[in-house]
Amino acid sequence: MSTETNGNGHQGAKRTEHDSGVEEVIVVGSGPAGFTAGLYTARANLKPLLLTGNEYGGQVSLTYDIENYPGFPESLSGPELVEKMKAQAEKFGTRVEFDYVNEIVVDQHPFLVRTTSGQEYRTRSLILSTGASPRYLEIPGEKEYTGKGISYCATCDGFFFRGKDVLVVGGGDSAVEEALFLTKFASRVRVVHRRDKLRAGKLLQDRIFANEKIEMVWNTVLTEVVGSDGKVTGVRTKDTVTGAEGELQTDGVFIFVGHLPNNILMQGKLALDEDGHLVVDKQMRTNVPGVFAAGEIMDKVYKQVATSVGQGCAAAMQATRFLEQMEAEGMPSLAMDPRELVHA
Ligand code: NAP
Repeated sequence: MSTETNGNGHQGAKRTEHDSGVEEVIVVGSGPAGFTAGLYTARANLKPLLLTGNEYGGQVSLTYDIENYPGFPESLSGPELVEKMKAQAEKFGTRVEFDYVNEIVVDQHPFLVRTTSGQEYRTRSLILSTGASPRYLEIPGEKEYTGKGISYCATCDGFFFRGKDVLVVGGGDSAVEEALFLTKFASRVRVVHRRDKLRAGKLLQDRIFANEKIEMVWNTVLTEVVGSDGKVTGVRTKDTVTGAEGELQTDGVFIFVGHLPNNILMQGKLALDEDGHLVVDKQMRTNVPGVFAAGEIMDKVYKQVATSVGQGCAAAMQATRFLEQMEAEGMPSLAMDPRELVHA
């Protein structure tokens, strides 16, 4: 392997003949963090392989309108942004494969990556950007009526609730944004929140309180979703202050009560915090040298497209440096445990 200067202003590792069969970098995940990691490692001549996972584009692809990603003052939809990011990553050589990683092996080097299509890859570095998935309420009726009146994506399902009554559960940015979106279709939107203050940002709060189609149901949690003929007809509720039980009739329930990191691949292999996020240092390095993380799999604070992009960029630059360091100091043998390497 040799190195050359690239457009990122630092040396990029370059594949040569003897490297065949071993990837320089595999990116797992196709959200903003993953595509940015693809873009930057591609521009470092690493010919990254990006494995998309089952939820192509990640959560942002479910977003109707993105108003806060810099550079797009007119706003754009999540799917549009994902396509632009993919096109830009591919333009510089990222290979995008629609495949789901179901196993990583990181206690040997090169690392192994296995997918549900039966592929097995070896790679010198790994960037994990598997994102997060919606948190469930875990109440009776939730599983039974998912897709039959319960939804976790207003952008996907709002259309089916034209002229209907819906509930939105949660008090964060997602709940408020999605409630506002649902007013395009539903006749009435009630936001059920467990406290008497929203967690959402001020701008969104101003919008929701000004919207005549939206009513707030404060200090209330759902205890059960009920229905008949395979369709949601209402929910049972509990007042979080008085403990009083009640019922609300509705046609649909949209649940936005946060997200859980998609860490199934990492459990028992990489350090996770108490909430299940990958633990990384400021350079996006996990506890295994050569394995980096970006986006909501490691971020439990910001969770913005803009921050995920920044983390993807940082992870890519660190992966590039890791490979350069390996080049200078010699790659570890297959038998070597990468945990023995010292973080730079
Ligand atoms: P979040 O900020 O964690 O909010 C989750 C909401 O669900 C909170 O209001 C929480 O109540 C409530 N909740 C949690 N568990 C519950 C339960 N079991 N029963 C009832 N309610 C429950 O999650 P999010 O809204 O999905 O946002 C995640 C991140 O993405 C945030 O950092 C957010 O800023 C960001 N985001 C940004 C935008 C944007 O910038 N436009 C859009 C969407 C998301 P409490 O308030 O009482 O804790």
